[in-house]
Amino acid sequence: MKILFLDQSGKLGGAELSLGDLAKPYRNHCLVGLFADGTFRELLEHQQIPVQVLTTEAIRVKKDSGVLQSLGSMSSMLPLILKVSQIAHDYQLIYANTQKALVVGAFASLFSRRPLVYHLHDILSSDHFSLTNRRIAVTLANRFSSLVIANSQATKAAFIAAGGSPELTEVVYNGFEPNSYKTQANDSHKIRQQLGLDGKFIVGHFSRLSPWKGQHILLEALAQCPPEVSAILVGDALFGEQQYVQHLHQQVAELGLKERVQFLGFRSDIVPLMKACDLIAHTSTAPEPFGRVIVEAMLCERPIVAAAAGGVIELIEAEKTGWLFSPSDSQQLAQIITTCRNQPQQAAIMAQQAQSQASQRFNLNTVNQQIAQLLNRVIFTQSLN
Ligand code: UDP
Repeated sequence: MKILFLDQSGKLGGAELSLGDLAKPYRNHCLVGLFADGTFRELLEHQQIPVQVLTTEAIRVKKDSGVLQSLGSMSSMLPLILKVSQIAHDYQLIYANTQKALVVGAFASLFSRRPLVYHLHDILSSDHFSLTNRRIAVTLANRFSSLVIANSQATKAAFIAAGGSPELTEVVYNGFEPNSYKTQANDSHKIRQQLGLDGKFIVGHFSRLSPWKGQHILLEALAQCPPEVSAILVGDALFGEQQYVQHLHQQVAELGLKERVQFLGFRSDIVPLMKACDLIAHTSTAPEPFGRVIVEAMLCERPIVAAAAGGVIELIEAEKTGWLFSPSDSQQLAQIITTCRNQPQQAAIMAQQAQSQASQRFNLNTVNQQIAQLLNRVIFTQSLN
């Protein structure tokens, strides 16, 4: 099947890492079209997946844009829409992986008469998007797409609540290759030594630095934990949240946590870093659409604690495969960190159960088969029209 994948980002967020995995089986006859250059292009090239940066013009619409701003930016997308429409003639299907890709893909689908699939990685709620942006996404998806793939039940429910068509929508979780999460125990020991954290209880946080990802909640919790509990914050501000980064550094200083918190920036060696941790914390303050980090922690056989909202509650069985806490409740988080530290056996059993469950539920091969079946259905239906 010849697929034209579209993604607005040049950076490596969860949606892009997921697309990298999905596009692999199609690499001999697909193209990933990006609306910005960056490390995502490098990753795709490294995986020998054909990729082209389709524009160097920044698309200025933001998640909280109003009507005028959105309309203005849509008209500035016209050259890109025409270019994508042209390219789409060589492909059987357009696969939009992000919201701006949906806008471009919808019109390109109309002009090129190729079916459109929209992979929805976002919760379309007021926590994350302006009313205008939600309306644009839902209207275009309902009108132009043959299929919407939601990355969790929570994402699907928010799409429907925003006016999205239930008949169009199928839930497919992100897939992972379990073998990629096996490393030598030595590597993590080395990392603990390099970080100067041997003998400490390490809580790892793996996410871009952004207010709703809630790194500040972990810092608040840390201040309520015994002094040997330390934290590593892995990830960078991907979308210009520099003020938040400053705020976090200030918070570390004010809470007297300088010796206990390390900012490691964006890293691609997630697996050995996770394995070096005693617990992984996921602290989003708004509902998380999926939460790749949670499944990755499970596959690394590390205990996980996560804020109970959005797709997260579909991933974790409370007290069986991980701990859940109320979003933004740093006191409850601190209690769970302390419980995990004091009861290593219980934590290890939970981590083992989580690993075996996650290897089955989120297996990349199965997920790729599910997606292939759905895409074949779209192509078949199109051929009948
Ligand atoms: N990640 C990474 N390096 C970092 C921080 C995060 O590779 O320094 C990866 C992380 O392992 C996960 C993805 O970025 O696979 C983030 O996906 P998630 O669904 O957790 O959040 P999103 O970025 O989509 O909001």
